[in-house]
Amino acid sequence: MQEYAQSFTVESLADAVQAMLDASPAGLPPEWRDSLEQAVRRSRGRIPPHLFYATVEQAPVAISITDPDANILYVNPAFERVTGYGRSEVVGSNESLLSDKCTPVHIYQDLWRHLLAQQVWSGTLVNRSKSGVRYVAELVIAPVVDEGGVTRHYLGIHRDITEFHRLEREALNQRQRVESTIDLAPMAIALVDLAGDVVLENRAYQRLKNEMGVEPRELLAHHLGMRAPGDGSAFHDEEVSFEPGEDRPTRWFSCSGTWIREMDDRAGAFFAPESRRHLLLVMQEITRIKQQQEEVRRNALRALIAEEARVHGLRESIAAAGFQLLGPFNMLKAALGILERRGNEEQNAPVIDVLRQALAAGQQALEVLRTAMPNEQPEAPVRVNVNQALRDVLSLLTDRMLALGVEVEWRPAPQLPAAWGCENRLRAMFKQLLDNALDAMDAPVVRRRELRVVTTVSDDAVRISIEDSGPGIPDELRIRVFEPSSPPRRRAPMRAWVSPW
Ligand code: FAD
Repeated sequence: MQEYAQSFTVESLADAVQAMLDASPAGLPPEWRDSLEQAVRRSRGRIPPHLFYATVEQAPVAISITDPDANILYVNPAFERVTGYGRSEVVGSNESLLSDKCTPVHIYQDLWRHLLAQQVWSGTLVNRSKSGVRYVAELVIAPVVDEGGVTRHYLGIHRDITEFHRLEREALNQRQRVESTIDLAPMAIALVDLAGDVVLENRAYQRLKNEMGVEPRELLAHHLGMRAPGDGSAFHDEEVSFEPGEDRPTRWFSCSGTWIREMDDRAGAFFAPESRRHLLLVMQEITRIKQQQEEVRRNALRALIAEEARVHGLRESIAAAGFQLLGPFNMLKAALGILERRGNEEQNAPVIDVLRQALAAGQQALEVLRTAMPNEQPEAPVRVNVNQALRDVLSLLTDRMLALGVEVEWRPAPQLPAAWGCENRLRAMFKQLLDNALDAMDAPVVRRRELRVVTTVSDDAVRISIEDSGPGIPDELRIRVFEPSSPPRRRAPMRAWVSPW
């Protein structure tokens, strides 16, 4: 704006004044005629004065020339259009006739400070047109100085920028509305450019950054496609976890990323606008929901494992009872066989009868036991993540391990192939083994309570090792750990099912 104003040099103005002189407008003040003649002398031979005059007359911006007190000497037709005043109405009046009282006085004071120091002033005023309508005027006022260095005139140029101002404010308001909505949104929002730099972030995002100590977008680096601009595709509701470390709980976020295009606003792209891509990142914390889901899952798991154990225990007890009955039953059967083979049926009839009744009763008892045997729920084998199954069981036992003061060393293999098996039964087995380990350490004599759970891979097999610092199974009982009846104090981890039928 300043440079634009400076282009109205004294020489150019002199040409214009000569042009106006040639046109001999009515009511031309004599001192202005003097000024015009001086100006023409300087500029003669450059542009024909009438051309300069025609240019000023036809210029699309409002142009006025005043004396040193801002009394109007000349206005062009554009001035008439913008202000609504005809030339004859304003010539002789002061420019202050356009002033609207909502322009603060300090603006005028600044204007005059510049003009009195023979400097160009540019700025914005609120003007009032002849019809009383306010408009926003963008002005440039340049002093016109004579050869003796005295300000003789002022050249004023202004245009109505009311519509531009309205659009600018509207855009600003819109931006503020959007920004404050985004800023107050509870989810973390950031705009990331192709270089991976965050160009806009809301308060929730800043808060998250402070809490995490890292850029939250780092959690989504693999989605952003930053290394290959343009490769990144949109993603929605991706669940991403953040491990803060130092015993702080894992935090979960549901993240969405949408690529948005914006027009290049640089001058070089004016005629061939290129669009730039930005990723709009929205991160909603879902840690509480995740914790609740995990709690529900753990409870369901606890119930499932308890049910498995109940069914398993019941089957084992019934099988053991059947096993116990089978001995006397076989003996009775043998005794009956002997008596029947002797052939002295009449004499032995009462005994044979009693034996037959006892055998029938025994058979019935075995049948009752057989029907009381609960069915094991059939479970289809699936690909099991052994690490996850062990982790689930360890988390179920957390309270008990804390109560016992057990130090747990959990070392899962980082890469574990999925194992083919019945997931619930595997979990039940791990639970039994771990319960067994805790039982072994649950004695006052055991001072050091350590549990070591390790998974490794060897030759495509998943190896699980569970070690405790308990006293261990006495040597004489080791051979019996897979028998159906429990050895004293320590149960076998997984007992073989022996059916009497
Ligand atoms: P005032 O009370 O007269 O002035 C406000 C303050 O301005 C005063 O307190 C004083 O500090 C300062 N001031 C005013 N006149 C002078 C002066 N002659 N010398 C030194 N200080 C002074 N104004 C518009 O509102 N709209 C226009 O489009 C416009 N175009 C102009 C074009 C030209 C070429 C020039 C030279 C001036 C233009 N002005 C314009 C300014 C105008 O002359 C008035 O100064 C302004 O309108 C304030 O007038 P006022 O009666 O409202 O306030």
